[in-house]
Amino acid sequence: MKHYNILVVGGVAAGMSAASQARRIDENLSIGVFEKNEYVSYAACGIPYMIDNEIADRDKLIAIDKDRFINERNIQIFTNSEVTGIDFSKKTVSVNENGQTGNISYDKLVIATGARAFVPPIAGVESRNVFFLKNFNDGIRIQDFIKNSLPASGVLIGGGIIGLEMAESLRTLGIETIMIEKGDTIAAAFDTGIQERINKELVSQDVSIRTGADIKKIEEHNKRLRIIYDNIEVETDFIIVAVGIRPNTEFLKDSGLSMDGKGAIIVNEKSETNIPDVYSAGDCATVKHLITGENVYMPLGSTANKQGRVAGLQAAGISSEIFKGVVGTQFVKVFDLEVARTGLTEAEADKQGIAVEAADVEWKSRAGYCPRSRKIYVKIVINSETREVIGGQTSGKDGAALRANVIATAITSKMKLEDFAYLDLGYAPPFSPVWDSLHAAAQKLVKR
Ligand SMILES: Cc1cc2nc3c(=O)[nH]c(=O)nc-3n(C[C@H](O)[C@H](O)[C@H](O)COP(=O)(O)OP(=O)(O)OC[C@H]3O[C@@H](n4cnc5c(N)ncnc54)[C@H](O)[C@@H]3O)c2cc1C
Repeated sequence: MKHYNILVVGGVAAGMSAASQARRIDENLSIGVFEKNEYVSYAACGIPYMIDNEIADRDKLIAIDKDRFINERNIQIFTNSEVTGIDFSKKTVSVNENGQTGNISYDKLVIATGARAFVPPIAGVESRNVFFLKNFNDGIRIQDFIKNSLPASGVLIGGGIIGLEMAESLRTLGIETIMIEKGDTIAAAFDTGIQERINKELVSQDVSIRTGADIKKIEEHNKRLRIIYDNIEVETDFIIVAVGIRPNTEFLKDSGLSMDGKGAIIVNEKSETNIPDVYSAGDCATVKHLITGENVYMPLGSTANKQGRVAGLQAAGISSEIFKGVVGTQFVKVFDLEVARTGLTEAEADKQGIAVEAADVEWKSRAGYCPRSRKIYVKIVINSETREVIGGQTSGKDGAALRANVIATAITSKMKLEDFAYLDLGYAPPFSPVWDSLHAAAQKLVKR
């Protein structure tokens, strides 16, 4: 039976981070990566910009290709190889490689199987020209369809982050775009102040938004598609469905691995699971929320890379390496509008029973006399008992999103509002006013 010191299941952000880090630590380890699809180590986050041709060369999204992993890093990669089962007591995995099955043993195992797009229960969702967007193949399929069919119109089902990014891609390609969202609002992860700004930006870019639309049916109709909800019919050339993801862990059901209610594998700050010598990382795993202390499912590339790195280092014997968790920082670009969130929104804090105070400002990005100064919106949320900063949202242009990283740092270090309001942020007129938008929002909240 083939044997690896470290066997990794899944070869994208988390899996390849784990394999690469383990190799850096120990050149003598045998490392094998088993990946169900044909691509490894690609940047899923760049797919919307590949589809609209901003990134002209698809290969640019592949950080390191399979051959380089094998030849330069001595990491054995097996693509089109699906792990179908794991026997934790015997320390073996069953692999199906192009229809051929076999068992492989390991010393340490990293499960980095990521997630798949959630398929909503809509009749006709499997119709021709209805696409999902989760992996590189999905991106290629959408891009090829657009190039070959030159569609005039497209519908995005789902107003979350991927829907927002794809709205920009489709409009960049001159495609008439409708966004249909089941909930009352798009961009539900953000506060209303930000949602309004996103809505305004989308409308100004001719994206039609329909909310509260519970789609019942999709029909193929004269080579086009017809979407039906609430007695309304929308015709379009193609549809992209982006309504969330689910962890790829069904093959581990009843295996004894601890998972949450959504099937995400529960890991600690060492990326360890409840089973000895088994680690997990990325979109198939939970992560600790540093404010609430809960294990949450917050699948993001930023987390997958960190958890994967720690999983690989731990598996290679570096037991001091840990990733403590996240504060929920997310960025999205909606056309020219930069949007970011970190920590808890007021509504999320309320659900946690945390009493909060919040303030927001609309400020200038640079000194008022600078010609290229743009508007920046900042909201700061604090715990009203401890006075610690626990949330923030930003939007605007000219550095709005990156400002949220300062808030994320304050949240992580449990900084109190009164310190945040006088933080020694850099100042020069072309970068910010002397009182930055972050100071301004915080000063608004300070009790004197
Ligand atoms: C369009 C898009 C834009 C995004 N933008 C951002 C962004 O701006 N910022 C951000 O932080 N995140 C973003 N993300 C999310 C980010 O891409 C993911 O969080 C990240 O790719 C997760 O990496 P992963 O390795 O955990 O999982 P995945 O990328 O899902 O990879 C897991 C791999 O495991 C393989 N696999 C599954 N089951 C098996 C099995 N049984 N055997 C073998 N192999 C298996 C799968 O085929 C897959 O290739 C975006 C995602 C998409 C789709």
